[in-house]
Amino acid sequence: MTDERGARPNGGSTTGTGAPAQSDRNSLTLGNNGPILLHDTHFVEQMAHFNRERVPERNVHAKGTGAFGVFETTEDVSRYTKAALFQPGTTTDMLARFSTVAGEQGSPDTWRDPRGFALKFYTTEGNYDLVGNNTPVFFIRDTMKFPHFIRSQKRRGGTGLRDNDMQWDFWTHNPESAHQVAYLMGDRGVPATLRNMNGYGSHTFMWVNAAGEKFWIKYHFKTDQGVKNITQEAADELAGQDSDFHRRDLHEAIEAGQFPSWTLHVQVMPYADAKTYRFNPFDLTKVWPHSDYPLIKVGKMTLNKNPDNFFAQIEQAAFEPSALVPGIGFSPDKMLLGRAFAYADTHRHRIGTNYQQLPVNKHRVEGANSYQFDGAMAFEHTGDQPVYAPNSYGRGYSDELGPVEDGWESDGEFVRNVYDLHAEDDDFGQPRTLITEVFDDAMRERLVNNVAGHILGGVKDQTFPRVIEYWSSIDAEIGKRIEEAVHAAKAEIPAPSPTPIKGVIEDNTGV
Ligand code: NDP
Repeated sequence: MTDERGARPNGGSTTGTGAPAQSDRNSLTLGNNGPILLHDTHFVEQMAHFNRERVPERNVHAKGTGAFGVFETTEDVSRYTKAALFQPGTTTDMLARFSTVAGEQGSPDTWRDPRGFALKFYTTEGNYDLVGNNTPVFFIRDTMKFPHFIRSQKRRGGTGLRDNDMQWDFWTHNPESAHQVAYLMGDRGVPATLRNMNGYGSHTFMWVNAAGEKFWIKYHFKTDQGVKNITQEAADELAGQDSDFHRRDLHEAIEAGQFPSWTLHVQVMPYADAKTYRFNPFDLTKVWPHSDYPLIKVGKMTLNKNPDNFFAQIEQAAFEPSALVPGIGFSPDKMLLGRAFAYADTHRHRIGTNYQQLPVNKHRVEGANSYQFDGAMAFEHTGDQPVYAPNSYGRGYSDELGPVEDGWESDGEFVRNVYDLHAEDDDFGQPRTLITEVFDDAMRERLVNNVAGHILGGVKDQTFPRVIEYWSSIDAEIGKRIEEAVHAAKAEIPAPSPTPIKGVIEDNTGV
């Protein structure tokens, strides 16, 4: 490449309006030492655009990565849903984005945190977004608590620091978090790679078949690479060495032709079972035991293409649980119903009113006929057609009446309650099963160490007894072991303040 004054290597560059740009290296000045002239419009445009080249990061799930792929329905589940993408033999293009929850864009991939598992299927009936996680449950069961929960996991107002005390203060005040916290503090709290984790729709959704029969379902995407996790020590080391470790791994695997895949299964609950099941099947803090509702295979998702441009295709990707297609509906899960509003709303704020027109978010439906018009950055339009409905000029509109096919019965006064109570709606039973029946001894030992380490990372004395009570409610033995581990560590190393710095090199050159 030439570097001569006045040259235009490789054809030079252009301004935003397409004209030849005069220089990308030297601004226009009055004499060699004079001020920069305001009518150097290319300079002004460059700086002004640069000042605006970031959009706000996502408030949650800011750090992530993703890839394109394909979903193939290999089995026949048409008796449960009429959704086109789940009909036997159907292949659908898709996008996946994986993320941590609490960390900001530059935060390490290997912080202990649930991982987002967001999928967008570009189906023939419109986009279907399944915005799940790598865990089958969540910390809370009502969206009303969500802003409080997220603030408690992010940074303190005063110090700008993340704060383990704040996290445990929230969790112990909200005991329904116990199942997710037990899962998070176990081995699956830090996946080895994004390819080695399962994905779960987590919520209960509704499926409706062609005959109008309704079912409650849960999605399970099981990794074909096998579930693999890493220890806290390895995660801490990686956080320092390569904060983008998971992003890099996914990119490199796909680049090398090692396309990761996941097999989709669903659990199907007959519609009427929900009323009499032993716990509330719409409670996001609970799983449906496999023995009650076994996994039914549906198909396979394979990620086979890296994004060409990270900002355009991953940062601007907008996943929203409100993107449903015929044959798939919501359920009375209050977290799901709250999310049905919140995601599209945050995209309007973060990317802009017309985010659905961006290529990565654009549906692939022939002959779509939306009555959304104008707004900032609108570039799609339907010409001089009626902008109102009904109209006498042939533009279609929708006017369905009566019960909706994916609705459910509801009756009663306006209330602020948890849910209809079922016999086994307690907060500690399922985490107890996880720890005492699913984990083995080595897993329990790592759990105790992970929790003790987290407590030692800043939980205050006034919060500590509540944390022990919380764990003891899950399992008395585990509670006792955590308490002993914390006391033993405290006796060994008195908490220093401020944190001592390793590897300091004194600089005496200015003396
Ligand atoms: P099962 O024995 O049928 O299932 C246990 C499930 O636990 C496994 O299938 C696996 O889920 C998951 N699991 C295995 N190791 C770990 C681990 N280290 N951390 C977290 N999960 C792990 O029993 P149940 O269906 O009755 O569930 C028992 C408990 O298992 C639940 O209380 C819940 O905590 C946990 N679990 C249950 C799931 C469900 O949908 N039923 C899903 C995930 C966890 P997978 O096959 O999805 O990898």
